[in-house]
Amino acid sequence: MNGGTSTTAKRRGRPHRYLLSAIAVCGVCGAPTRIGTQNTGARRGSGTGEPPSRYKVYECVGISGGTGFHVSMHQEHLDQIVTDALLARIGEPDFHPPHALSEDEDGEIRRALRLEIKSDRAWLDAVQKEAARSKRPDVLIQQQRIVLPRIQAAETRIEELDEFDPLVLKLKDAQSARTAWERMPLTQRRHVVQVLVVPRIRPIDAEGQGRRGINAERVDLEWRRRD
Ligand SMILES: [Zn+2]
Repeated sequence: MNGGTSTTAKRRGRPHRYLLSAIAVCGVCGAPTRIGTQNTGARRGSGTGEPPSRYKVYECVGISGGTGFHVSMHQEHLDQIVTDALLARIGEPDFHPPHALSEDEDGEIRRALRLEIKSDRAWLDAVQKEAARSKRPDVLIQQQRIVLPRIQAAETRIEELDEFDPLVLKLKDAQSARTAWERMPLTQRRHVVQVLVVPRIRPIDAEGQGRRGINAERVDLEWRRRD
């Protein structure tokens, strides 16, 4: 996978396998990042016959005519920094989900809600007929008290789904945003990142040299503004 631009070209049509490739950008030149592999250099547990450990990095692809490869960052570290920040952001009380990008996203939930409304209405119709037949209007009123608010809630929810990005809304409404996040397929997680934030990787400064742990200071998060 040392193909440079050909690697990017070959990507066409294939799904991304990492959360932030082509989403995170280089803090020096603004180019997107791709996934690369780095060796740790030292053999871990020498004598045990273990191969040198390798890990994935996000690295700058460079701009045409430029030098490229300005920054590279441990893939798991960047994923964790961005995920933690994003879930914290979604959990803030004043957070508002961005508007939906495309109408058809998550049409599935809306279809389910519409079916629910339809069956609730059918139920009320049946109750109404039965109430008329048995001359028990109280039965109808009682059922309306239960079912009408449910229909109303489903209709409001459909309106929300039409207006806001459904995947972000799903995380915001989840009891645990992190659990909901972990259950999302990668493509959905990538979508959520893309509509909310641009992570910018800074080069390692003198202070960060040789630091092994997660260094969140190397990442600038540019939150997208709602329009
Ligand atoms: Zn760069």
